[in-house]
Amino acid sequence: MKITLSQYAGFCDGVKRAYEMVAALDMEHVKRPVFILGTLVHNPSVNEKIEAKGIEKIEGEKFFAARSSEIGTIIITAHGTGPDVYAHAEKIGAEVVDATCPKVIKVQRLAKIYRKRGYRIVIVGDRGHKEVRGIDDWGGGGAVIISDENDLKSMKFDPEEKIAVLAQTTQNEDFFRSVGAYLKEKYSAVEILATTCHTTHERQIEIRKLAGENGAVLVIGSDTSANSKRLFEIAREINPRTYFVESADDIKNIDLAGMESVAVTAGASTPEWIIEEVVKCLAGDI
Ligand code: SF4
Repeated sequence: MKITLSQYAGFCDGVKRAYEMVAALDMEHVKRPVFILGTLVHNPSVNEKIEAKGIEKIEGEKFFAARSSEIGTIIITAHGTGPDVYAHAEKIGAEVVDATCPKVIKVQRLAKIYRKRGYRIVIVGDRGHKEVRGIDDWGGGGAVIISDENDLKSMKFDPEEKIAVLAQTTQNEDFFRSVGAYLKEKYSAVEILATTCHTTHERQIEIRKLAGENGAVLVIGSDTSANSKRLFEIAREINPRTYFVESADDIKNIDLAGMESVAVTAGASTPEWIIEEVVKCLAGDI
């Protein structure tokens, strides 16, 4: 069986940078206790490593309730967060290790700028996703979130309103384009700000090609990873024999008997060691 591994499988630049920043933290010299706001990546094995380092996960509510000295250092993940977090950290005297991906920062800043210019902010992304919530907060809150066709069709704006449409960085580009086209047709002052990141763009183009060229596709990722699920959905539309796996263990449940070729890709938060294990397992080396 021929196995083709995607050239983009695994950590994207933003996640890699965040992971390296956390891995390089010198726990002897950093202000303790150290917390991370939410999960660094949607991957249990990476998160266990972070915990073993002595970094504890904290969710927003608890962070905002924390007083001075309860938090020494707070780590912001690649998905970013809203301005209130920085303000609260300053108020309680906590150090900030900011691992927000620069591409996410760009979207946050655009939301802020366009809101100031009087635009209604529309974010095409997963409702409730950390990155989307952060972008919304930078835009002053109250953005309209479009997660699917139903959201799109139920949208109603004032015909005179200025609308700025932003994308969550890992958004399906086809869907983003269709939202932009729909809004432009119905309203007169619509600004489309194509903020899906280059990595996402390349991955989505490549997975379409691989799904068409191979008998089956394996997408490795966590079921809480938005970009992994997106890759899965795109591949499955083209190739019904697309499977979502979290680790090499899941391969046992997939029947690939007689399959001549399999393409393997992975979400932006999937560590290299898991990808290697899956490929080895497919090749029969494990
Ligand atoms: S997917 Fe793109 S925007 Fe998101 S963390 Fe990775 S590099 Fe940054």
